[in-house]
Amino acid sequence: MSDFEQAASGALPGIVVTGASGRMGQMLTRLILDSREARLVGALERTGHGWIGRDLGEAMGGQPCGVIVSDDAVSMIARAQAVIDFTAPAATVAFAELTAQARAVHVIGTTGLDAGDLARLAAAARHAPIIRAGNMSLGVNLLVGLTRKVAAALGEEWDIEVVEAHHRMKVDAPSGTALMLGEAAAEGRGAALADLRTPAREGITGARQPGSIGFSAIRGGDVVGEHDVIFAGQGERIVLRHLATDRAIFARGALRAALWGQDKGPGEYDMADVLGIG
Ligand code: NAP
Repeated sequence: MSDFEQAASGALPGIVVTGASGRMGQMLTRLILDSREARLVGALERTGHGWIGRDLGEAMGGQPCGVIVSDDAVSMIARAQAVIDFTAPAATVAFAELTAQARAVHVIGTTGLDAGDLARLAAAARHAPIIRAGNMSLGVNLLVGLTRKVAAALGEEWDIEVVEAHHRMKVDAPSGTALMLGEAAAEGRGAALADLRTPAREGITGARQPGSIGFSAIRGGDVVGEHDVIFAGQGERIVLRHLATDRAIFARGALRAALWGQDKGPGEYDMADVLGIG
């Protein structure tokens, strides 16, 4: 790197990636290391992880990159302008408190957060921006907007079902994206998803409740993520579909969110805000 590039890089937002050894963590660190818009200033893993103390580039099977994987979240996050976090709910809530103290942007891709977790994120967002989305891709966020519009245009006689497929390693269901789509459909109908959501079906379930929103999950292989929103009427069906073929779409969206958040005040934001399509 030339002296000029070195000096210029100092002005770029410094980003810490949590869960650096994870599928998304590795995608994110590679993207940021290659970026001309941001610097990777830290890579976090949990205490006891085999990568702690190792050069991240080498741990990922490549050349050294000068970033040492650490479990010291307090000092890493203190030096960050943004934290990108695709880990697990308990970890994300703990990182949110540290990120709020550092007044840094917290981009959260972690799914499976419950009401208690969300309340703690809301408290952290009083001090710094939190940008959270169950899916960080542009295409999915457009699909969310379309789902809201179609649900608003069609009456209750059109049944709504959300069907999703993911790789065999995914631990939660429905996916965060499926829930985003269900919430958009419920909003389109002027209701809350909690009031319309049908529990998972098995056995003698009885007939479908009018106006309800159903979810189905398929798990297998290396499927990156597929979502259909089905509007089933009498004699016709509309299917809105998004297929993800490369997890880089989530990493690119998360980096874009981290950069967008640099001049934003405390509060909770989503990808519709980042993309200006809210
Ligand atoms: P993954 O491969 O299992 O990676 C998760 C990483 O987080 C692992 O490295 C894990 O470490 C680490 N981790 C867990 N608890 C931690 C802690 N307390 N401190 C530090 N690191 C911790 O999973 P993934 O496929 O990358 O997905 C991660 C999350 O992102 C999931 O919730 C997934 O649903 C979500 N996701 C969201 C989007 C989106 O666009 N919003 C896209 C893809 C995935 P260990 O291996 O030691 O447990």
